[in-house]
Amino acid sequence: MTTTTQAPAAQAVALFEELTGHAPAGVWSAPGRVNLIGEHTDYNDGFVLPFAIPHRTYAAVGMREDGRIRVASTFASEPVEVSLDELTTLFPTATGAEPAVAEWAAYPLGVAWALQLAGATGTGVDIAIASDVPVGAGLSSSAAIESATASALNDLWNAGLDRTALAQIGRRSENEAVGAPTGIMDQMASMLAEPDAALFLDCRTLDANLVPLSMTEAGLAILVMDTRVSHAHSTGGYGERRAACERGAAAFGVPALRDVSIADLDRAAELLDEVTFRRVRHIVTENQRVLDTVRTFREKGPRAVGDLLVASHVSMRDDFEISSPELDVAVDTALAAGALGARMTGGGFGGAAIALVEQSAVETVSDAVTAAFAASGFTAPNIFTVTPAAGARRDV
Ligand code: ADP
Ligand code: MG
Repeated sequence: MTTTTQAPAAQAVALFEELTGHAPAGVWSAPGRVNLIGEHTDYNDGFVLPFAIPHRTYAAVGMREDGRIRVASTFASEPVEVSLDELTTLFPTATGAEPAVAEWAAYPLGVAWALQLAGATGTGVDIAIASDVPVGAGLSSSAAIESATASALNDLWNAGLDRTALAQIGRRSENEAVGAPTGIMDQMASMLAEPDAALFLDCRTLDANLVPLSMTEAGLAILVMDTRVSHAHSTGGYGERRAACERGAAAFGVPALRDVSIADLDRAAELLDEVTFRRVRHIVTENQRVLDTVRTFREKGPRAVGDLLVASHVSMRDDFEISSPELDVAVDTALAAGALGARMTGGGFGGAAIALVEQSAVETVSDAVTAAFAASGFTAPNIFTVTPAAGARRDV
């Protein structure tokens, strides 16, 4: 049996061998991500600034000759197996419906389906997955499983798709096979990120530029504070926020809120009801904050971006209303304990917050947040530092 003490790459290989009785053809991996700034801007055709974290999802993959695809994960008790021809009868998942297979299996099977729709063909495959990306923490374990699978099948099926195209395959799986209406940010970060840099992404054009972060040289660290309150993308608040954004864009007669500027906000206040106005104001100001953050990194370095992170959190808390008591305690406590900036990251309603801290203050800030969670009666948070890591790759 596989054990949790192994690194996830070895776990994936062990699971593959347990499943098939032979060695995999290769191992591919892709990272989770932290978004530095630019939240809910991706599906508004706006800007985001994520980086990949060292936590990765590994897919050990081998060919089979019978045209069937089998996926297994250390997270699931049972593998799921279907014929490649059957994928088009399983997907797309009807709007609002559960996938016709176990939900976790819809992520990798949806990738195979989306690759088929993009013209890729190949033999059957066995896929064994293991990961150390926290699940449901807003660190995008979903993009990690999609990107690892897409990279593996792209190679084994000789599909020849580039990284941006593979990110779109992953998004299609998540949107249409799983049924979670998420934007393109997570998959682009997982596919294209590079060490020590963030990915400045224009979600309309998919134009991606690396921004060097130089955190370590500056004596700084990024702390992830996982509240261990899981979010649920496919239901509730996320869809409601998307709908509000669409209403806002429609009121302006533009394709997306990307096309509304800060100067337009006075008019937005007249056009929109109070709640929709605040949703729109978050997106419009957040887009500007991403641009300001990129410029600040380039002109002044990482020490200068703290206030932008804080302004982003306040906007998500008060205007977009996607924070939670746990996220607010994490952010407020980190700042009070000396963090230069802090904000919730990811879709919201739980998940993780980040803090920009002096390396020398990592322990003080972590201890303060842990103590504040205990005092508030919250589940103990999972707190760790991350350094910007590499995007998807073939490992073996
Ligand atoms: P997040 O991306 O923030 O971690 P999501 O809700 O978007 O949260 O995705 C989490 C889901 O992705 C899990 O519930 C599971 O269905 C699937 N998933 C992620 N990683 C794995 C894995 N290693 N094995 C199986 N399923 C996984
Ligand atoms: Mg996700």
